[in-house]
Amino acid sequence: MNIQLEKLTSIYHENTPFEHLALNNITTEFKEGTYYGIIGHTGSGKSTMIQNLNGLLLPSYGEVHIGDITLRRKTKQRIIHLVKKRVGMVFQFPEHQLFEESVIKDVMFGPKNIGMDEETAREKAEYYLKLLNVDRALFDIPPFDLSGGQMRKVAIAGILAMEPEVLILDEPTAGLDPLSHIETMQLFQKIQKEMGITVILVTHDMNDVYEYTDEVKLLNQGNLIRSGRTEEILTDAGLLQKYDLEVPDIVRLTSDLGKKGIEFPKIPKNREEFINLYMK
Ligand code: ADP
Repeated sequence: MNIQLEKLTSIYHENTPFEHLALNNITTEFKEGTYYGIIGHTGSGKSTMIQNLNGLLLPSYGEVHIGDITLRRKTKQRIIHLVKKRVGMVFQFPEHQLFEESVIKDVMFGPKNIGMDEETAREKAEYYLKLLNVDRALFDIPPFDLSGGQMRKVAIAGILAMEPEVLILDEPTAGLDPLSHIETMQLFQKIQKEMGITVILVTHDMNDVYEYTDEVKLLNQGNLIRSGRTEEILTDAGLLQKYDLEVPDIVRLTSDLGKKGIEFPKIPKNREEFINLYMK
């Protein structure tokens, strides 16, 4: 399932003194099975864009096509509900949305809400909790008794258990320690590859965008500046600096060493590759 934005314009508080143009006439596509990064400085429109992809916001003008479903300014709630089955969203600090009396019930809530029966919902919940290494002994205790990292895993399992075709991640590693950060990002990568789903990552962490995504969309002040291969966009230090974005560590390091006369036939995609290529 592909997602297409057609002349998407998003305006907050339209026709009031507080009117604000957050996305300006954006036409672009998210192709099935691809891992995307949406990048841009704070206020560039990233969050507005992802909210338009799952019906949390409707376009002010233009259209959003989620497979064969079209979202427009006045799309009915009944249609928006169909989108929620297809597009899962892991919000920032998703653990803040846990509310059920037990871990397993919390993970089952989403699947049941989109129409799965009790038994199927339980199967999915158990499967995804296991995938996320949540111990079975914790299934029946209140989620609030878990550690922060475990609570986040439970919240993520709740989204995965709905088996969305598109998974949107909004700063999914905010506040995690470095090890959990890597563990979480590798898990999403594994899920993306194994299930062949589309993943859309919004983050300020350019190292993650460089390492994990295939394609990037660069926003600035509500405009789509660039859309293309991650390798091309994130190795363009001039472009990143122009839009006030960090240059990924590996790209910076290889170009700094390059200035010292050391040749780099290839910019490595991740730290491991860097060590293998140049440090051995
Ligand atoms: P980002 O996620 O890239 O930081 P946002 O999509 O949150 O950007 O915001 C884009 C622009 O829209 C910003 O100028 C922001 O101030 C404005 N904005 C976001 N949400 C609202 C809102 N609820 N009401 C009014 N303006 C908003």
